[in-house]
Amino acid sequence: MKKTGKEIWVFGDYRNYFRNRVTLQLLAKATDLAKKAGNPVCAVIFGSNVKEYVNEYIAHGAEKVYVMDHISLKGYNVETYVILMEMLIKKYRPEMVLVGATCFGREFAPRVAKRLATGLTADCVDLEMNDDDLLVQTAPAFGGNLLAKIITPIHKPQMATVRPGVFKELPHDYQATGEIITVPIPKKLPENQVRLISSRHESARINKIEDAKIVVCGGRGMGSKQKFRKLYALAELLGGEVGATRPVVYSNWADHDSLIGQAGRQIKPLLLLSFGISGAIQHTAALIDAKFIIAINKNPDAPMMKMADVAIVADANQVCSAMIREIRKRIRE
Ligand SMILES: Cc1cc2nc3c(=O)[nH]c(=O)nc-3n(C[C@H](O)[C@H](O)[C@H](O)COP(=O)(O)OP(=O)(O)OC[C@H]3O[C@@H](n4cnc5c(N)ncnc54)[C@H](O)[C@@H]3O)c2cc1C
Repeated sequence: MKKTGKEIWVFGDYRNYFRNRVTLQLLAKATDLAKKAGNPVCAVIFGSNVKEYVNEYIAHGAEKVYVMDHISLKGYNVETYVILMEMLIKKYRPEMVLVGATCFGREFAPRVAKRLATGLTADCVDLEMNDDDLLVQTAPAFGGNLLAKIITPIHKPQMATVRPGVFKELPHDYQATGEIITVPIPKKLPENQVRLISSRHESARINKIEDAKIVVCGGRGMGSKQKFRKLYALAELLGGEVGATRPVVYSNWADHDSLIGQAGRQIKPLLLLSFGISGAIQHTAALIDAKFIIAINKNPDAPMMKMADVAIVADANQVCSAMIREIRKRIRE
């Protein structure tokens, strides 16, 4: 296949590694995009003692890794990382830059795009290459009421952020080899306005909701934090995970990790149980790959009920309690 030389870059976000796999997922997608025009797939990594991650990126599809490894780059710092990324992009001129839509990616990527006066499509849910070898970036638009396909035909690089869980990582290839380009950091970096006082790894979920076969998802219709807790009991009995809508997360009934939707996680369960959820597009956009949906809502006209394979018009709490009772009874029998 002809090689265009137009590189596709994936920004290496390795915080919370091994838990957060978005960089590996983007490398897989970049490999797929590169098939058409033969673009080299590259990763970019900043940090201190990052060799382990460099090898991991090569094993997951990176043909080339640009590395800036220095003690002063330990810990993610948006101001410094933005300046370094701008510098690298101006020097090596990649065709596309993909960044995970993590908390860090969401503050990092727009700043880089602004400095380069190029476009950025945030929170993409799909990426493909069109016949002109332009990146077609699919993202929720107008408050999430529709999915827009966006291209950046003039300005370069074409930049997109993608939510974790949208793409599937490639298996670890132990035989893979790649080129490592070590780039020295500039002698003088501007002084940071922000000082890191401490950091800690997020507590790991044992099972990731993105991979769960069964998801029990609850909305404001559950009524209270105490009632919402019942969903955890049901999920445990079913061997599933608990998801939540934004009002639930904002009311502190569930942690931010559980948020399903445009601002949260994308899921693809075989079975989704949806309790007391209206079905706003910002939530349902993350459910398109759910195989079978059972929705419980007092309102038969709620969009979630229309989307469901089985719609139960009832009180969400009563149905949840009844399911828990029935499953426990069957376990005892
Ligand atoms: C930019 C943007 C991004 C967003 N991102 C997200 C996102 O990522 N994820 C997300 O979820 N939301 C997101 N939202 C918010 C979204 O628009 C909705 O407001 C939210 O999904 C509604 O949550 P809900 O269904 O729990 O609550 P509501 O819309 O209030 O619905 C509650 C439902 O419960 C039903 N109900 C009430 N009582 C009972 C009962 N006793 N038994 C059964 N049913 C009952 C009601 O009939 C209703 O349908 C976003 C919004 C914006 C503007």
